[in-house]
Amino acid sequence: MTAKEIRESFKKFFESKEHLIVPSAPMVVKDDPTLMFTNAGMNQFKDIILGNATPKCRRQADSQKCLRVSGKHNDLEEVGHDTYHHTMFEMLGNWSFGDYFKKEAISWAWEYIVDVLKIDPKDLYATVFEGSPEEGLSRDDEAASIWEQFLPKDHIINGNKHDNFWEMGDTGPCGPCSEIHVDSRSEEEKAKVPGRELVNKDHPQVIEIWNLVFMQYNRKADGSLEGLPAKVIDTGMGFERLVRTLQGKTSNYDTDVFQPLIKVLGDMAGCKYGEDEKKDIAMRVVVDHLRAIAFAIADGQLPSNAKAGYVIRRILRRAVRYGYTFLGQKEAFIYKLVPTLVDEMGDAFPEIAAQQKLVMKVMQEEESSFLRTLENGIKLLQGVIDETKAAGKTEIAGDKAFTLFDTFGFPLDLTELICREQGFTVDEKGFDVCMQEQKNRARNAAEVKLGDWQTLSEAESEFVGYDNTEYPAHIIKYREVQQKKRTAYEVILDKTPFYGEMGGEIGDSGVLVSEHEEIKVLDTKKENGLSIHIVDKLPEHPEAEFMACVDVERRHAIEANHTCTHLLDEALREVLGTHVEQKGSFVGPDYFRFGFSHFAKMTDEEMLAVEKKVNALIRANDPLWEKRDATMDEARAMGAMALFGEKYGDVVRVVRFGDSVELCGGTHTSATGNIGLFKIVSESAIAAGVRRIEALTGEAAENYVHVMEEALRSARSFFNNTPDLAGAIRKLVEENADARKQLEAAAAEKAAQLAERLYAGAQVVNGIRVARFEMSVDPGFARNMALLLQKKAENLVLVGAYEFGGKPNLLAMYSNDLVAKGKNAGKDIREAAKLIQGGGGGQPGLATAGGRDTASLQPALDKLIELATA
Ligand code: ATP
Ligand code: MG
Repeated sequence: MTAKEIRESFKKFFESKEHLIVPSAPMVVKDDPTLMFTNAGMNQFKDIILGNATPKCRRQADSQKCLRVSGKHNDLEEVGHDTYHHTMFEMLGNWSFGDYFKKEAISWAWEYIVDVLKIDPKDLYATVFEGSPEEGLSRDDEAASIWEQFLPKDHIINGNKHDNFWEMGDTGPCGPCSEIHVDSRSEEEKAKVPGRELVNKDHPQVIEIWNLVFMQYNRKADGSLEGLPAKVIDTGMGFERLVRTLQGKTSNYDTDVFQPLIKVLGDMAGCKYGEDEKKDIAMRVVVDHLRAIAFAIADGQLPSNAKAGYVIRRILRRAVRYGYTFLGQKEAFIYKLVPTLVDEMGDAFPEIAAQQKLVMKVMQEEESSFLRTLENGIKLLQGVIDETKAAGKTEIAGDKAFTLFDTFGFPLDLTELICREQGFTVDEKGFDVCMQEQKNRARNAAEVKLGDWQTLSEAESEFVGYDNTEYPAHIIKYREVQQKKRTAYEVILDKTPFYGEMGGEIGDSGVLVSEHEEIKVLDTKKENGLSIHIVDKLPEHPEAEFMACVDVERRHAIEANHTCTHLLDEALREVLGTHVEQKGSFVGPDYFRFGFSHFAKMTDEEMLAVEKKVNALIRANDPLWEKRDATMDEARAMGAMALFGEKYGDVVRVVRFGDSVELCGGTHTSATGNIGLFKIVSESAIAAGVRRIEALTGEAAENYVHVMEEALRSARSFFNNTPDLAGAIRKLVEENADARKQLEAAAAEKAAQLAERLYAGAQVVNGIRVARFEMSVDPGFARNMALLLQKKAENLVLVGAYEFGGKPNLLAMYSNDLVAKGKNAGKDIREAAKLIQGGGGGQPGLATAGGRDTASLQPALDKLIELATA
């Protein structure tokens, strides 16, 4: 079976077990503060598992794009060195939300891999949780007895808490799990060592393929466990590992998932996979990382120097570095593999095909810029090696190696490699110390302590803010949150008009008022589908009825800005072309930012055209038309632009103003006319192929125009309020240039006259003619004069002592013939300058010096003459 057929067979199997097959969520996570990237199939169902949302179907299955490069799951350093961990991989999964439990989960897993896929049962092992006395948990006999219907007892293995007890986080749903492992060693090896001894021992041929998680507990903030009302089945099977098993390979990279990429890379680098272990590792790193980077960019996460963007940047750099060191790639090359990737995966994941050009452009630019950094880093390292050598040592200091790591992205092994080539070692301990210090700093900054929710009712929370800015509400639950010694309070309401920050739109603020008290809502955030109100204090009478009131003026400004981003999107596509795709946005009350793909700086004409178009759309005063529960197909039929990288449920909200149709969950103004006025304030690049417009609307735009007008008015007042300001300024600039020219000519004339006079007054000392000046002059003037004399005089020295800006200065000019005889003004002036407590230098023919001791100018001049004529 090909990889594509295997993916389809999984979906078909669970469809036959009445599962709803859902699409993969984007790999980039948007509304979960604990997670930057999807790292498991369950992430997109977290709101259901936490009880914040009701599932549309209690049985679901999918193939989910996952990325394990940060946080709890970080496999980055393994990738390439082993043959079964990837940064990005697909996780096949099936879920039960309060429906079936262990019995069905295990039997169906067995049915699928043994009856359908025909994996030989004698190669299979299952693990079960052995129990944990300190938690009061016994062995998972329930799971074990189900396995015993399929597997002999010696293929069922007890596992500890680390491998066989799954937790969502420090708190929340958790439970035992059962993993399925496959032994794919040769018959000979199997005879020598039984597979059961190699399970969970990092053996590359005895690997875990499927994990079945049985969520039955909830972990509270004090660490204790309580039963979960609605039990959950969450399974995850590594797609690439399954393909490898079915295709009879011993490495994920030998399957049709990776071979086409490896082939193209080999042709590019002039080498063949399987001939040299170091090159093989590098090739695995490159083809693996390529997938992660390309999909991250397509999902809207561009490389950058912070947070999720920095993670992507580091993955790319790791690939570039392996290519550079082991595959001889000194120029950007990874981006050239994107077309092959699109051929292979574009059908299953259309987002990558649709954005091929952007993905390639961004990657090429990132690669090139890192290669420049790499070269600079190598130069810097060479400097460190030279210094170390000069100091008679052979070990590079750990903090130096850390600087290279931190600012140039040089991992320790690269630094060691380069050092080793020249017979040097690196102080690894010192490096580790620096690394640990940095980690501690980061941890202290990020530590958050969440209190338990104080729950008042089990009601579901509902957002009513599309239609209301004021609404009677009850508190469902509240808690305290501590971060960096600051305490914040969070409140959840049964009905809320407050919009939680999401999709680039900032959250609402306002107040909660009851007959007893008034609580300020400072901000509202959306986490896992729940609107969390950040308030200034805990309620004293939490059970009372509150009136939830949004700050209306602020909300209206936000709405106008949000609607305007839609109009801008439309105008950009009209003026620049339909290649324009939205790439992130920020919508606040004061202004908005809008990112979009486009490959050149916008011209002034294009900006003007866009601004005019948007303002025309505003004046058209199109009313808001929305459908809150459209299916994806209906939305598409209405002409909504599909935004890749957005997570949409089965029903979506379609927002239309005139011809602009978008899928959007944000708040909008009731008609475009409310926006009033639109002004672009800047247009700039944020990455290769991605640009950003910052703009203002309504009163902010009006104020901006006033500020501009005021600037013009005050400028005009300098020119008698002329109506032709540009003409007046041009005239002034021209006059100014003329005046400067005249001044310069006069100064040159004066310098020439003075030079003549000094030349005439020169006295012969030791056979050399010495001209001298002692007067207050401008250093530029003195220099010009010296240059004039240098040009025409022979056997002449000009020495000068003068004050400028209250400081003593010296000048020495030796004519060319004297220099040819070995005289050096730079050397002599340094010597003489000591007397004025200063220093200086220059050319053998012309040198200057400055100092601090004005009183000694005269002796210094005498000294200079003495040296010049020696
Ligand atoms: P391992 O111990 O092999 O790292 P895990 O315990 O981290 O696996 P889970 O978190 O249970 O794995 O994930 C479920 C399944 O996803 C695994 O059984 C495996 O098939 C697959 N998987 C996990 N991590 C990776 C990875 N980095 N690359 C490819 N597949 C993976
Ligand atoms: Mg793992």
